[in-house]
Amino acid sequence: MDVTALTIHAAKDALARGEMTSVELTQEVLDRIDTVEPAVNAFITRTSEGALAQAAQADAMRSRGAGGPLCGIPLGIKDVICTKGVRTTAGSKILENFIPPYDATVMDKLHSQGAVCVGKLSMDEFAMGSGNENCAFGTPHNPWNLDYICGGSSGGSAASVAAGECLASLGSDTGGSIRQPASHCGVVGIKPTYGRVSRFGLLAFASSLDQIGPLTRDVTDAALMLNGLGGHDPRDSTSARAAHEDYTEGLIAGMKGLTIGIPAEYFAAGLSPEVEKVIRHGIAVLQDAGAEVKEVSLPHTEYGVAAYYIIAPAEASSNLARYDGVRYTHRDMNADSLIDLYRCSRSQGFGDEVKRRILLGTYALSSGYYDAYYKKASQVRTLIIEDYKNVFKECDVLVSPVTPTPAWKIGEKSSDPLSVYLSDALTIPANLAGVPGMSVPCGFSESGLPIGMQLQAPHFAEKILLQAGLNLEQGLGIQGKQPALS
Ligand code: GLN
Repeated sequence: MDVTALTIHAAKDALARGEMTSVELTQEVLDRIDTVEPAVNAFITRTSEGALAQAAQADAMRSRGAGGPLCGIPLGIKDVICTKGVRTTAGSKILENFIPPYDATVMDKLHSQGAVCVGKLSMDEFAMGSGNENCAFGTPHNPWNLDYICGGSSGGSAASVAAGECLASLGSDTGGSIRQPASHCGVVGIKPTYGRVSRFGLLAFASSLDQIGPLTRDVTDAALMLNGLGGHDPRDSTSARAAHEDYTEGLIAGMKGLTIGIPAEYFAAGLSPEVEKVIRHGIAVLQDAGAEVKEVSLPHTEYGVAAYYIIAPAEASSNLARYDGVRYTHRDMNADSLIDLYRCSRSQGFGDEVKRRILLGTYALSSGYYDAYYKKASQVRTLIIEDYKNVFKECDVLVSPVTPTPAWKIGEKSSDPLSVYLSDALTIPANLAGVPGMSVPCGFSESGLPIGMQLQAPHFAEKILLQAGLNLEQGLGIQGKQPALS
């Protein structure tokens, strides 16, 4: 059995027909991890034994006639999602030995459906980054070209799916961290509407922006994963009460009756010509499928990065205050006063990017600066929300690049954090407004690196994203193309 291109829906059918067991499937995936992991480095913690035990339970579940589409499917989990009894580091030395005593709601849901967890995936420390180069446990390599970044912060989540080390994974997206690595690794990634998927048990980066979502091999799998993850959760006060839908239902070929908006600001200066070429081709494919195409404008897009890099660090500086060396974190055992204990434990435990964000956020929230920075940024956020409200009067779905350039070489931008921040310009607005966004593989750069198309829709209109994504996937016919990893 070749697990490298296997989708959840194909595996589900094969399991149902009795062509394989979940234990066999899981063993194949674990073998694949053994083979490629030395080159890819997508995992922080592997849970092979637990995975085989869960797979055996899934087989038992299936033989009783229980278990849904995710029953017995091997998945990888971004290491920012709490897993009971399994180390959860957030990519940080400060949580190197943290073993959560509880499961995140998404893990509860996956377990009750019989899903199998093969391990915890690499990420930028506390999800801060765009290249997965800020991880205390090493940088994962892009399966399409090992010299390049996978994207971030859910780099391990994208790389593992692309490299055949799991059938799908969970990531989190605060300013693009699902869509951007999905684009760079040639897989599908969805950031659902804010509130659609519970954040209970997600280690918080910026609570008003964070959202958990799936990375998968095709659009149908993304719909299946969303079915398994969504729904109201009383343990998350920001969880939406919107009805949980069946996202696979009614996904049809054809875009008749749908208008796609092309936002002029997303095709502005700085966009690489090869990315633009691939996206324009994708737009033509959607047009051929019957979509009406319209040029639209979101005039405040250019202020998104500036507003985000005030709001996200401000929230992070508060959220990360809990890692103080007293409770579950790394502790400096030589500190001789309480203040020293805080200072030394945090200095040793946090990496440079996290420290930079804490300083920025604390500064922006300081008395005297609050009005000048945080309040202004919040006002800009409202203007961006208004932009979306207006544009969705004219179109059903927005189509654009995910990132201005394809993946960069590992190390190329290490000394230039500002240029890394700017690479988020096209993904950040969706988080500021809370609308759903998706990346679907759309083509390749001249040097063979994947390029994704970004789709954005109104709040709770994930189905329109999936509908457009499916039509793009079918029209392009590139789904199933694999990186040439041995
Ligand atoms: N790259 C952005 C940042 O560094 C977004 C990260 C994310 O979505 N978690 O903050």
